[in-house]
Amino acid sequence: MSTSRTALVIGASRGLGLGLVHRLHEDGWNVIATLRDPQQAGALGDLAGVRIEQLEMNDTAQLDRLQQRLQGEIFDLVFVNAGVMGPLPQDLEAVSRGDIGDLFMTNAVAPIRVARRLVGQVREGSGVLAFMSSILGSVTIPDGSDLCLYKASKAALNSMINSFVVEQQRPDLCVLAMHPGWVKTDMGGENAEIDVLTSTRGMLEQVKAQSGNGGLRFINYLGENLTW
Ligand code: NAP
Repeated sequence: MSTSRTALVIGASRGLGLGLVHRLHEDGWNVIATLRDPQQAGALGDLAGVRIEQLEMNDTAQLDRLQQRLQGEIFDLVFVNAGVMGPLPQDLEAVSRGDIGDLFMTNAVAPIRVARRLVGQVREGSGVLAFMSSILGSVTIPDGSDLCLYKASKAALNSMINSFVVEQQRPDLCVLAMHPGWVKTDMGGENAEIDVLTSTRGMLEQVKAQSGNGGLRFINYLGENLTW
């Protein structure tokens, strides 16, 4: 990777996105972090070298404006982290059409719409484009029946990432579908297995290890390959 490295983290207000920004900042990267509400940047706004941008991922006009504001930037890492759990309980008889639409839009479609707008600015040869997937997105691992809609949305994301990679025809591009572990965040809950520091430290190590290896991989924060 080049000496002055720039990362873009999509969805950095809290949880894993916020943790990623902290790890990158500690590691000397220039960081651009997107928030839905930049007024709520909190301590993030005080981190030197962290530029805050606004993005509600499901808003096309905001996506286009972000693309314009980021013109000319070259990214060593674009990490599309934002995601939602969806309605709870995930009862197929009770769930509304709107809630299902929002879940699949946010978790599967919007990340690709972000990536399409920015992939041309991922550094040739060494840049990494990472999507926050989940092991629950594996269709071969029978798990997560309580979260069947979330699981399906991450399987859909994995499928969309595959189609995106084929569409790009860019063998140099390193694309990661990343499982962060089961992490103590608002989404992961307090009973989760690992903390944000452990997960984000691991993911940053994997980003660095995978830089320069073109192709698509589904891995976890420890670098282990996962089954699609
Ligand atoms: P979190 O604490 O709930 O944070 C979710 C983040 O996504 C927040 O910054 C949120 O912003 C942002 N976001 C949600 N919808 C958005 C939208 N439409 N546009 C822009 N930003 C949006 O969850 P987390 O645990 O950190 O999860 C981060 C990612 O990891 C998600 O993709 C999740 O599916 C994935 N993941 C988490 C775990 C886990 O154990 N925690 C495991 C596997 C995968 P606001 O603050 O504005 O809501």
